[in-house]
Amino acid sequence: MIEYKLFIDNEWRESQSGKTISVEDPATREDFASVQRGNEADVAAAVAAAKEASEDWGALSPRERAGYLRSLADVLEAHSDEMCGIITSEIGMPRAHVFDWHVAAAISGARMYADIAEAYEYTAEQDNYMVIKEPFGVVAGITPWNYPLTQATTKLFAAMAAGNTVVLKPSRQAPVSCLKLAECVLEAGFPKGVFNVVTGVGGEVGNALAAHPNVDALSFTGSTDAGIKVGQLALTTVKKITLELGGKSPLILLPGGDARAAVAAICSDVFMNTGQTCCSFTRFLVPRDRCGEVEALIKEEAANYITGDPGDEATVVGPLVSEAAYRKVKGYIEAGLSEGARLVCGKVPEELTDETKGYFVEPAVFMDVTNDMTIARDEIFGPVISVIAYDTVDEAVRIANDTKYGLAGCVFGNDRTQAMDVLCRIKAGYLLLNGEIPDDSAPFGGYKMSGIGREGGVHGFEEFLQIKSISLD
Ligand code: NAD
Repeated sequence: MIEYKLFIDNEWRESQSGKTISVEDPATREDFASVQRGNEADVAAAVAAAKEASEDWGALSPRERAGYLRSLADVLEAHSDEMCGIITSEIGMPRAHVFDWHVAAAISGARMYADIAEAYEYTAEQDNYMVIKEPFGVVAGITPWNYPLTQATTKLFAAMAAGNTVVLKPSRQAPVSCLKLAECVLEAGFPKGVFNVVTGVGGEVGNALAAHPNVDALSFTGSTDAGIKVGQLALTTVKKITLELGGKSPLILLPGGDARAAVAAICSDVFMNTGQTCCSFTRFLVPRDRCGEVEALIKEEAANYITGDPGDEATVVGPLVSEAAYRKVKGYIEAGLSEGARLVCGKVPEELTDETKGYFVEPAVFMDVTNDMTIARDEIFGPVISVIAYDTVDEAVRIANDTKYGLAGCVFGNDRTQAMDVLCRIKAGYLLLNGEIPDDSAPFGGYKMSGIGREGGVHGFEEFLQIKSISLD
């Protein structure tokens, strides 16, 4: 059993609540770790430590802060095997894929933000005024379980590189990788108070952080519902807020597009991480006369996504993260069938019993979906693709935009001009041409109810700088 305390001011501390939380391995349904159930008093202590450290950290040169981040990247790299093992235990991501999908971006992100911090122009002079970019002070990060390490590092490495100190509240379902990260921060020699972790329940630790008057900026990643609540709370003390929220993103196969390549891309995108990816292309928009071709291809491709024990080399799809997630996804597959969609891959998950070993759900594909069905509207957050037929490209664009979300989108087409035109008409923040994934320096974030602000690269870095102008005489 792995055990961790809270990480505050470079010390491991017990929560003042006197309580702990067990962390379950979703592949076995057995507890593998225990963490502290932090409370408001722990949040106060962590914020005080971060505030105390913020002046000195903010006063370091960008080069000095970059040095710390580069050391952290090296330490993370040295501990990457252990980190991979933890993430496999906390969310069930197969061991064969966990480095590429979860750990690599944390290491490269630390190096990327070190480079950005060094190269960034923090001051600019105009004719009669000067603009200076400064850190906010204390930044709080509230993060989800689906990419438990990188959701934290993407925001907090940017925040620290920009000169802020941070307090992180990871998800109660997968907090262990963030505590392992704290161990790495300590080993990399960061000054005390720069990086703090308070584990616990969203409504307790998350709320206390969002409301705390000495937290200057809040960066939240999670569901749209929780993001709205946390954002409202943060505004009671007028914090800078960044929200990275849910999605229901479309992939449009244009009439002349490569169906085989589109099918390969969508299966990887939706089935890897067991469909628990915010920007997954879960709505597959296909020309009506190509639906038969796509159905055959998708059946062939989905067969490669072997579901099972995450420790097995051949496994591509692990379990869903929790019993609640399993019940939710099962409910959506049943809803798809009852609303008239045709399930061509996968099956309705069985009832959970005491004998059930893990929360495994086979990748599922529905044909004959219409955009008003529940499975086309709600974020399922499981390995489920809905194929929706369209008759004209204008109709495809209309369907793609007919959602409250606007996180991501993808277009496959053989005519680049047409594909670019369609991409420009999609109301979303993160778009891919023919499935090409950009590097981590591309800005990532949502339109509409998918969020406010951006993560990644210089745009993500700038979210953690505030702007001052000084008029010159
Ligand atoms: P969640 O909203 O349940 O929880 C996210 C975090 O918020 C957790 O740390 C949780 O403890 C905390 N929290 C929850 N309710 C809270 C409250 N009332 N007050 C304060 N804190 C609260 O989300 P989840 O189930 O952990 O993650 C899945 C969701 O995250 C999906 O909707 C997914 O799309 C979204 N997500 C978005 C992005 C993005 O970049 N846009 C990335 C990953 C995940």
